[in-house]
Amino acid sequence: METTLRTKLIDKSVGKDSPSDSDFDFVFDPPIAHPRKPPIGQSDNLKVSGDLEEIDSMAANFNSVIRGDPMDIDSLSVSPSPSSSSLLSLSRKADKLDTPKRSLRLQHSSLQEIHPSPLSVPSEPSDHSSNPSVISSKATTPVDVDSSRDGGAKKAEPYRPRVSRRTYSNSRPKVSIPPGMAPHEYATDCILAVDWTMLNAYALHQEEYALLRHHISYAQVSTYLNIRNGILRLWANNPLVPVTREEAIGCAKDPRWFDVASLSYDWLVRKGQINFGCVKHRKSKHLTTNKSQGRKQKTIVVIGAGLAGLGCARQLDGLIRHYSQRLLEIGEEAPRVVVLEGRSRVGGRVYSRAVNTEQSPLPDFGSERLTVEMGGMILTGFERGNPLNTIVRGQLKLPYHELKPDLDLYDMNGKVVDKKRDNLLEGLYNDCLDRISQYKFKLPPPKLIEGNRDLMDEGRDSTAEGQKTIAYVEETTASLPHAPPVSEQNVAPQVELVPISTDCITGKPNVEPGVPATQKSAAKAKAMGWNLKQGVSEDHDLDLETPSQVPGATLGSVMDDCITQYKQILELNPLDFRLLNWHIANLEYSNANNYRNLSLQGWDIDTGNEWEGKHTMIVGGYQNVPRGLMSSPSPLDVKTKSPVTRISYTPGSSEGSAQVECEDGTNFDADYIVNTIPLGVLKQGSVKFEPELPSWKTEAIQRLGFGVLNKVILIYDAMFWDPNKDFFGVVRNPPHARSVNQKDYTAQRGRFFQWLNVSSTSGVPVLLAFMAGDAASDVEHTSNDDLVREATEVLKSRFGQRVPYPRQAFVSRWASDRFARGSYSSAGPDMKVDDYDKMAKPVGNLFFAGEHTTGTHPATVHGAYLSGLRAASEVLDALIGPIVVPTPLIRPRETPQSLKRKAEQHLRDPKRARLEAWEMEYWDFLRSKIGEYPYKPAKVAGHAYLLYSKAHYEAARQKCLEGRRAGKGKPAPNEVRVMTSKMWKDASPEEKKPFEEQAVKQKEEHAERLRNWNEKVKDWESKAQELRKEFEKINPIEKVNDNDDDGQPSGGRRRRGRFVESYAEGSDDEDVAIY
Ligand SMILES: Cc1cc2nc3c(=O)[nH]c(=O)nc-3n(C[C@H](O)[C@H](O)[C@H](O)COP(=O)(O)OP(=O)(O)OC[C@H]3O[C@@H](n4cnc5c(N)ncnc54)[C@H](O)[C@@H]3O)c2cc1C
Repeated sequence: METTLRTKLIDKSVGKDSPSDSDFDFVFDPPIAHPRKPPIGQSDNLKVSGDLEEIDSMAANFNSVIRGDPMDIDSLSVSPSPSSSSLLSLSRKADKLDTPKRSLRLQHSSLQEIHPSPLSVPSEPSDHSSNPSVISSKATTPVDVDSSRDGGAKKAEPYRPRVSRRTYSNSRPKVSIPPGMAPHEYATDCILAVDWTMLNAYALHQEEYALLRHHISYAQVSTYLNIRNGILRLWANNPLVPVTREEAIGCAKDPRWFDVASLSYDWLVRKGQINFGCVKHRKSKHLTTNKSQGRKQKTIVVIGAGLAGLGCARQLDGLIRHYSQRLLEIGEEAPRVVVLEGRSRVGGRVYSRAVNTEQSPLPDFGSERLTVEMGGMILTGFERGNPLNTIVRGQLKLPYHELKPDLDLYDMNGKVVDKKRDNLLEGLYNDCLDRISQYKFKLPPPKLIEGNRDLMDEGRDSTAEGQKTIAYVEETTASLPHAPPVSEQNVAPQVELVPISTDCITGKPNVEPGVPATQKSAAKAKAMGWNLKQGVSEDHDLDLETPSQVPGATLGSVMDDCITQYKQILELNPLDFRLLNWHIANLEYSNANNYRNLSLQGWDIDTGNEWEGKHTMIVGGYQNVPRGLMSSPSPLDVKTKSPVTRISYTPGSSEGSAQVECEDGTNFDADYIVNTIPLGVLKQGSVKFEPELPSWKTEAIQRLGFGVLNKVILIYDAMFWDPNKDFFGVVRNPPHARSVNQKDYTAQRGRFFQWLNVSSTSGVPVLLAFMAGDAASDVEHTSNDDLVREATEVLKSRFGQRVPYPRQAFVSRWASDRFARGSYSSAGPDMKVDDYDKMAKPVGNLFFAGEHTTGTHPATVHGAYLSGLRAASEVLDALIGPIVVPTPLIRPRETPQSLKRKAEQHLRDPKRARLEAWEMEYWDFLRSKIGEYPYKPAKVAGHAYLLYSKAHYEAARQKCLEGRRAGKGKPAPNEVRVMTSKMWKDASPEEKKPFEEQAVKQKEEHAERLRNWNEKVKDWESKAQELRKEFEKINPIEKVNDNDDDGQPSGGRRRRGRFVESYAEGSDDEDVAIY
């Protein structure tokens, strides 16, 4: 069955290739030319089915596509590009309400009158249906659905026919829920699947809340979430093939919820939560061009082939296929998507530069391409929703290397820095950040509409459905005297995040929920292990109010002040300053900027959105990801060497003409433009906008920061470093080596401060050094020779005088790169809290994507990709209209009328009715003979720490209260948790022993229960098999029809019935009956 075949496919395999260009070339040896290899293959003929072999071969095919071989840059325009004249002729007519569309709408409504859908018959109002919203029966997305009915009276808005009532011929309840699985086990599966997304298994996303609040009650949230999580489970199990609407609807246990499942599916698809990336969409019969019917074909021009641009174009390609029939309904051909890229390669700031070596000297490297990463390179964890997990591991199956986080710091004399001292300094550094985090922007907590966890954990839906919609309850409450307004109801508790340690690989602080600066500074320093200067009492506190109030205060100015104040109460020596400034250099690396250029309020606006899991690098080059997006499963229309110089657009409406002009004078007419040009280029103003961008956009462009991080990459004949270590750090001296003046450290701290051994991903012995903060800017105007010389000196201080000169070296200069003008965005000193949102906001038919348009994941590859998904969804909204919620959304429970209707339907398809009855009877028979499927025993706390923290909660709380500053309130549960974990770390082996023993005992008992359960399951299943045969003998089974793939009465296969039970938003690529 297709559903059950959605097995997890996350094996590693091989991937390779990237093109090269010479932006950063600095070669000592004469370059060895790569043999010319054939261009990228095509994979258009991939077949997708539930067959595992086919799925595997499809993954292999993806690999063959992206691995390709070293290739010429020119061969990157892989798609058969339409002649520019055909694009030039695509200018759009202003008339949006052409005759064919109008007649379609008329046809549609008159058909509805003649054949009203069963659901359009007014039914008895029922307590258990989702009430037609008391406040509004319209979609809650920001669209005036009614405006489509007046034939487009609003001239600026595109005409959209009313959403057709639709029916599903292939839908049956529960078919996507494995029949033999215990409900709580299925629930666990679903919840685990949601863990791999950015959604909360137990709560509505903000957009889901907006979509549903007028249509479902609080009690119905659990059922909705169960269905939505079920759909995500299908996707997580096999992201090589798209989840179909029919499968999604099969996650509903009751046909009354089909529309909900369908709606949830639409939301998940359109928002790129499922079916994204290099997924093979089914061939659509609606995608054929038939101009004779007078349909228009729109053009979407995406500017930039970095992760944002390619992610957006790939997603648009999938969405267009998915909603092709809907497009036909509104009189549109499937739009064409063209990507214009200024460089001669794709990937943008992800650039895996080819190394001039024919064969890897490393024995285990295999046949991957030999590359070094000039730009983005680290995947910061696959878990908790990183979409690149799906693409890298689930779809392209690229090999990757897990980075070992242990990092030794070396002083300039080559000696390793004492770990204890470094920990002490890292603690002080984090304490400074903790104190400063009280000045952060306070973001309003999001709405939190949760399902019933207990029910959901057991895999059960709510039986009490409630009469009032969420909106009704919220608005009624708000109308009461002294009640909070709607926006303040049902909000998540305000959680502040405080830095507790540093991720040394990314330089970003690791945070925990808590209250910043709870303890007085002297008391805290003492608790960390510092000796206070003589005469300083534990009551002493730093004054950060004064420096933070200075006009133009930045993170760096306040932090420098904080360090200077600490110097007054602690004995800080030059080594301490070197160490502190090494950590600051790491922070400057993560922000690609001197920290004096970072906003005091917004420097870590993205905190709390980090992924989990090991940091990794792609073997053979990160650029395999953008190349995979470009090529798999079919090539996108990417035109390289097309630098854009002018963008004209229609500001007032998403419908209107647009045009893009390239440097060589070529013009591309478009209906929608997605601009992913980096913020640095936008700041520079080398691309002209007509009309000029509105001031709210240009001001945000100015306020946001865009700094630089550079790399010096040295390739050697052999490794002279420990091949098993991925990192080492070097603390740098200031010009006056013994200085204890914080200002003296700025210029030097980021010079060759962090080194990576990237040999295992590059295939050659190579060391890569970061140049961060002011040092990064210096690189832009320092000669290669000088840089390599200095790098060699630093290495000699670490490894001794025998360090050779590298045989090849690469230096990045991202600020001088005309297509980047820097490395990545940061929070500029004057940044406003919503500047990233402003960057993302479309202006008419001009849409924006790129790492600088995502406040939750800026400055990253995954953030760029996510922004591409968001922009694609916005363009789809402009194309076909937003998601429309049918009303009532949840069908009423059976009434005499509905039963009659059902009986009539069953008369129309008696076979199916008999089959359903057979199935139900069989399950009753089974249960009467052998009872329910055995329930899996619940998990136990098998970890000693959990048992310890439970037992020591109160003691930890008391500890949190010690030394607490006045007015900082009671310790939050998470502060207590941090304390218990510290106590656990500090506990002696004797203290830990009883908890460890208890944990072992509990685990053993659980294992025993699992063994018993497994035996019971085996027994139950074998009996069930026998009983099925017995039952089939007594009650012979009848096949539904010829389309039944497996002839079984139940299961996840797509079935084709004749009649339809439901309706939902307009059309996608499935059988649709319009009444
Ligand atoms: C040195 C460095 C290290 C980094 N390290 C990491 C890391 O370890 N992990 C991580 O997640 N992120 C990292 N990043 C950040 C990450 O690489 C970027 O955030 C991400 O790649 C940006 O993607 P994008 O699509 O927004 O922009 P880009 O990749 O820059 O894509 C924009 C595209 O637009 C093109 N373009 C520009 N102007 C024009 C024009 N006028 N006409 C046509 N095309 C144009 C560009 O050529 C480019 O291809 C790093 C970046 C750098 C520079």
